Amino acid sequence: MPYEVTFIPGDGTGPELAEATRRVLEATGVEFSWDEQPAGEDVYREEGNPFPERTLESIKRTKVGIKGPTTTPVGSGFRSINVQLRTELDLYACIRPSKAYERVRTRFPETDIVIVRENTEDLYAGIEFEKGSEDNAKLREFLGGLGAPIREDAGISIKPISVFGTERIVEAAFDYAESNGRGRVTAAHKANIMKFSDGLFLEKARQVAERHPEIEFEDRIIDNLCNQLVSRPEEYDVIVLPNLYGDIVSDLGAGMIGGLGLAPGANIGTEAAMFEATHGSAPKYKGLNKVNPTALMLSGVLMLRHLGEFAAADRMEGAIAATIAKGEKVTYDLKPTRDDPTAVGTSEFADAVIEEMNK
Ligand code: NAD
Repeated sequence: MPYEVTFIPGDGTGPELAEATRRVLEATGVEFSWDEQPAGEDVYREEGNPFPERTLESIKRTKVGIKGPTTTPVGSGFRSINVQLRTELDLYACIRPSKAYERVRTRFPETDIVIVRENTEDLYAGIEFEKGSEDNAKLREFLGGLGAPIREDAGISIKPISVFGTERIVEAAFDYAESNGRGRVTAAHKANIMKFSDGLFLEKARQVAERHPEIEFEDRIIDNLCNQLVSRPEEYDVIVLPNLYGDIVSDLGAGMIGGLGLAPGANIGTEAAMFEATHGSAPKYKGLNKVNPTALMLSGVLMLRHLGEFAAADRMEGAIAATIAKGEKVTYDLKPTRDDPTAVGTSEFADAVIEEMNK
């Protein structure tokens, strides 16, 4: 039985990247039945909605989607599609591996980490009180009564971190470690300062870790983690973090492996999982067959592992790594200089990966 997968080409350079990825996924021999659905600026222009209901319904049905990047229409009043997806499908775990492949220019060639970021809570929960608003005044009055005065000219954002949210994200990190042969999980926090939010995160993370004695567990204060990641990246494996730290450290990880064109991602929930690159739609390169499809292809590798197709995933990742290591049929961003005339296009890079896989 082929796997039914919702296929969202997206817009900008999205369709080119998505097509290249689809071809490589099919070349693994795993069978897919693609349910192609629109999202982004193009469908917004045609239908006035960048994220049609039929696209959401498809993901709810297939439970697995792969998505090219989408542009957030400026001034449309629509929420970002990615935020909508996370909220509607409760995609609470954002998984972003950062692995430095051979021959990619990076100062951190030993990097091979996986960031597991909580997606729903923390300062991103959207609980905010604008400076000068009535609700802000009420909140300040209430807090003043508790002996916690806040200046009158302050804007306020609330940072909720729950037992429920922490347990499920830390479980997701251990699950990932177990099913992907990883040996250690590190929880990052600032529990020494934020005792009741990050403190709770750390306490619950330790309890979850006790249920997984075969995986090593440790914790790091977030500032120390950042310092150590750039001095001793080889000491880190799976890292689980609350939302804000996870956002920042994910980008740090992408930088450490040579840039956004190489950074894959997955958003996983109880009901569905969505696989997509970390980068955006790079609209200035639209239709030029130019940008690097590696990040979306590696998101496809994550999808294969999510589906339990480990051998196909290893083959596909190996072929991508070999193509990059040879350095010949690669896109401009992987050449020594960006104007290198030997750079190939998105589609030819996919051909080279397929050729590697068929060897
Ligand atoms: P971007 O990631 O699209 O592009 C920034 C620059 O990074 C590009 O100009 C290009 O030089 C480089 N780049 C990005 N992807 C590349 C690739 N695959 N290969 C080679 N170079 C690459 O960021 P942006 O310009 O800030 O955002 C454009 C649009 O994308 C915005 O509307 C934004 O909201 C949206 N966006 C979407 C997603 C998503 O769909 N997941 C994520 C981030 C941003």
